[in-house]
Amino acid sequence: MKSLTLYDTMARRKRAFEPIDPGRVTLYVCGPTVYSYAHIGNARPPVVFDVLRRVLSHLYGADSVVLAANITDIDDKIMAAARESGEGIEAVATKFAKIYREDLTALGVAPPSIEPKATDHIEPMIAMMQRLIDDGHAYAAEGHVLFSVKSYEAYGALSKRSLDDMIAGARVEVAPYKKDPCDFVLWKPSSDEEPGWDSPWGRGRPGWHLECSAMCETHLGETIDIHGGGIDLVFPHHENEIAQSTCAHGGKTMANYWLHNGFLNMGSDKMSKSLGNVALIHDLLKDWPGEVLRCALLTAHYRAPLTWNADLLTKTRRSLDRIYGVLRRLGHLEPVGTDVPEAFLDALLDDLNTPKAMSELFQLAGEANKAETPQEKAEAKGRLLAAGALMGLGQDDPDAWFGLAGMNPDERMEIDALIERRQAAREAKDWAVADEVRDELNARKIQVDDGPEGSTWRKMAE
Ligand code: AMP
Ligand code: ZN
Repeated sequence: MKSLTLYDTMARRKRAFEPIDPGRVTLYVCGPTVYSYAHIGNARPPVVFDVLRRVLSHLYGADSVVLAANITDIDDKIMAAARESGEGIEAVATKFAKIYREDLTALGVAPPSIEPKATDHIEPMIAMMQRLIDDGHAYAAEGHVLFSVKSYEAYGALSKRSLDDMIAGARVEVAPYKKDPCDFVLWKPSSDEEPGWDSPWGRGRPGWHLECSAMCETHLGETIDIHGGGIDLVFPHHENEIAQSTCAHGGKTMANYWLHNGFLNMGSDKMSKSLGNVALIHDLLKDWPGEVLRCALLTAHYRAPLTWNADLLTKTRRSLDRIYGVLRRLGHLEPVGTDVPEAFLDALLDDLNTPKAMSELFQLAGEANKAETPQEKAEAKGRLLAAGALMGLGQDDPDAWFGLAGMNPDERMEIDALIERRQAAREAKDWAVADEVRDELNARKIQVDDGPEGSTWRKMAE
């Protein structure tokens, strides 16, 4: 079997991927806190890890890959949103979790195998805290439970920070109930008006880091294969997850590979709600097909930063037009073969090199366009579709892509004839006729674009 290499943040290098059990490859990706609409930066981890999931499924079989991606449905931000809107906390979380799922579905991201919600896992969280307290890794104080960072020697191994750096950088919050300013909260008390659960340390609610450790343990076990998320989660979130899980599991490694995607930027800044420079998925979907957004997110290598702008979307749409244009020219021909072409697969196996994979995809589209016999065409179509499936691209109906799915067959034939006439005029370098036909097509609300594989045409939006 071909092998996959992944850049492991813990090792700071690419490593050959070896699952603990090839029959059950486990992947945990930190999910969103659901208190408002997600922006397109929030979609980068789910899209990237969806490609990883497809690659793992290709290597080990879809039934052997288990992806858990959580929903954080209890958090101060949700509580604030609920206060503001006058809705209940549960109503806010349920509403935005549903919108998040719809947004991701539009981006071609399949639901995870397991989508655990924090509020369904209070019991394992309490059990984990109890274990940590019993073993001297955590302590209770004034209704809080805190993790004692100095009790875990390897703290800082993922982010390569020493405790001294953290204190000097004032990355720690001083509070009277902390024995050490570096200690972080596992559990905090809730007032009567705030949501809370009974615990041996009083009524309260969990801290964000603890939620992931408990959900990961519950669904995937003590040691998993891959843990993923955005680069901003390395510190403190993942560092704290590692400390909690390792200490609660007698020193066992939490995850064998740590993967982090780079930021999606607006100009030179990270796209983030706090800076207010966000493009919401919900709004983008009004103007762009989800596949354009997905493909745009995959144009950069997942670890590299990616700048979001209208030009990226226009170019991406044109790129996808090339692929769908080729597929449309191949017509209803049944594809032959499901093998993923080697050069394309090699690009993805090399730490998910999606820009390289995309250029291989265009190569395959170009070859399919040049295929001559029906057999060659059918095989080229098979290769193009099999490769596209691994990235979740080019799987739609070409007519639907170009907005022609519901067009009446007579009109379709007339337009086909005009396109052919224009093509012939262009080949004969008769630009006057070519332009005249283009004007006629435009008058019929058909937009023609010329690309390297020939012309494509689509119904303009009304
Ligand atoms: P948040 O809602 O900020 O907790 O983010 C949810 C997920 O989206 C986390 O995995 C973040 O790392 C990721 N994320 C947030 N903003 C960006 C961004 N601008 N670029 C890439 N990933 C992001
Ligand atoms: Zn997490």
